[in-house]
Amino acid sequence: MLPLSYLSPKTEVRESKIHGRGLFATADIAKNKIVAVKGGHIINRKTLREQITPHLGPVEIQIDNDLFIAPTTQEERESSMLYSNHSCNPNLGMRGEITFVAMRDIRAGEELTHDWATTDDDDYSVQCQCGAPNCRQILTGKDWQRADLQKRYAGYFSAYLARKIATRCHSERSEEPHNRSNDHTE
Ligand SMILES: [Zn+2]
Repeated sequence: MLPLSYLSPKTEVRESKIHGRGLFATADIAKNKIVAVKGGHIINRKTLREQITPHLGPVEIQIDNDLFIAPTTQEERESSMLYSNHSCNPNLGMRGEITFVAMRDIRAGEELTHDWATTDDDDYSVQCQCGAPNCRQILTGKDWQRADLQKRYAGYFSAYLARKIATRCHSERSEEPHNRSNDHTE
């Protein structure tokens, strides 16, 4: 079977200090070059929570409010996994919703990581152990709403989140105060 996902030939999967196995650069990777593209089945949250996560663990990427891409069987798992760990000081960002690109020039040997804030809109809250000096300790599925992260990752959010951010900024500027109680996140 051909792999479901794409990993740049300048990468390899090996033991990570952050968590389990990680993705590493085996050569220098220039800013904005494609590092990985996620492939798998398109599924909703209900399917993910009931049928995928209990068997395969965290194998998905979110691509819209209720859409995810994930492998659905153990056989597919390895060929869909990207092994990009979360870091609060990542070197990968998103182009579109499934393509991971270098946010800066990356040197050979570096672990390739992305911030879940650039891909997720969910309701979780978990302790982060990424070890980055700027680690925010608690990660939530709503971190994309943080102004500091919106600034840091501008241009590198998943497209569906970038659209939410643009819409929210616009509505916050144009909304009358009496509408504030109707604030919602689509
Ligand atoms: Zn962290």
